[in-house]
Amino acid sequence: MSFNLKAYNTFGLDVEATYGFVINDFVMFDMAFKKIKESGLPFIVLGEGSDVLFTDDFNGVVLINRLLGYEFSEDANYHFVKIQAGERFDNVIRTCIKRGIYGLENLAFIPGTAGAAPVQNIGAYGASFSDFCRYVEVLDLNNNKLARIKASDCEFGYRTSIFKKKENIGRYIITAVELKIPKEWKPNLNYASLAELQGTTAEQIYEHVVNVRKSKLPDPKVIGNAGSFFKNPTVNISTYEELKAEYDTVPGYFTEGDDNVKLAAGWLIEKAGCKGLRLGNAGTYDKQSLIVVNHGEATPDEVVNVARFVRSEVHKKFGIELVPEVRIFGRNGECVL
Ligand SMILES: Cc1cc2nc3c(=O)[nH]c(=O)nc-3n(C[C@H](O)[C@H](O)[C@H](O)COP(=O)(O)OP(=O)(O)OC[C@H]3O[C@@H](n4cnc5c(N)ncnc54)[C@H](O)[C@@H]3O)c2cc1C
Repeated sequence: MSFNLKAYNTFGLDVEATYGFVINDFVMFDMAFKKIKESGLPFIVLGEGSDVLFTDDFNGVVLINRLLGYEFSEDANYHFVKIQAGERFDNVIRTCIKRGIYGLENLAFIPGTAGAAPVQNIGAYGASFSDFCRYVEVLDLNNNKLARIKASDCEFGYRTSIFKKKENIGRYIITAVELKIPKEWKPNLNYASLAELQGTTAEQIYEHVVNVRKSKLPDPKVIGNAGSFFKNPTVNISTYEELKAEYDTVPGYFTEGDDNVKLAAGWLIEKAGCKGLRLGNAGTYDKQSLIVVNHGEATPDEVVNVARFVRSEVHKKFGIELVPEVRIFGRNGECVL
């Protein structure tokens, strides 16, 4: 048996899993778990596969989460939106805007499902999933029961949460999330490139973000990719000042209440000479070097080579180690680059 994953990873890599199940309801979960039990193989849950790199065929079971549905409720001050994990997060934003629920617009057009949004605490344009999360509903495989994990217990951080912790890998399957969105809408225009949008509506901010993203990021349907391949690294102030003395254009973002500075990984990659790099059928995107791309029929090895080369060139030039944001899966499960 095999289950082709080409349509289920936005890198568009032609890899296979031993078994795959598209989960539309809890009956399918039962079937998938029967197979996992009888085969003794590891499993992975996927949404749209827009944050994963398969370096090989996966000797295991893939569960494609397609649980769909919404529930809306409210109190005097908040809208509450419960979303099944397989809904596309961008559809959630558009559905909310249509119903007059505003606030999520800065997160427009990020690929992927609602169920994956808490995993790396998706974020863009000065907003993060955690700004709106009330709780995450999970199937806890330690006791096979559904549970709610309050946002305050999710340990959300920059592209991280408890769902990425080593001890929780394979423990939680996210089945739904509930958002808590203030009824009193204030546009979030703190991000520099949104400042010009003073006085606009949530719809206009949504459209603006979509247009900017379309102009900057490759469409995975045309050029395979998984968005930012690496996280923006954090360095201490003295390292930042040394860099600044040598390169006065180095972009650094001070994080509040912290002595660290976040650097733009894309800038480091560009200055290390890797913007628009091409090695075989893989490379970095010419408009945004932080994105590793599949130019056509790239193999997993070609994508891995590009990512390793970029990481090594940045290390050689700046002494900074880039860490992948993308989750990497090899033959037996999650692995490192
Ligand atoms: C063009 C492009 C632009 C992007 N821009 C951004 C951006 O601006 N900001 C940002 O934060 N991200 C961005 N991303 C990354 C990606 O969109 C997000 O990480 C998204 O949340 C991934 O969703 P997914 O459904 O595709 O998850 P997948 O890639 O399918 O899975 C990602 C991880 O979550 C786990 N997972 C998925 N679903 C579940 C579940 N139900 N239960 C438990 N674990 C689960 C998987 O096992 C895997 O480890 C971008 C990606 C692309 C391709």
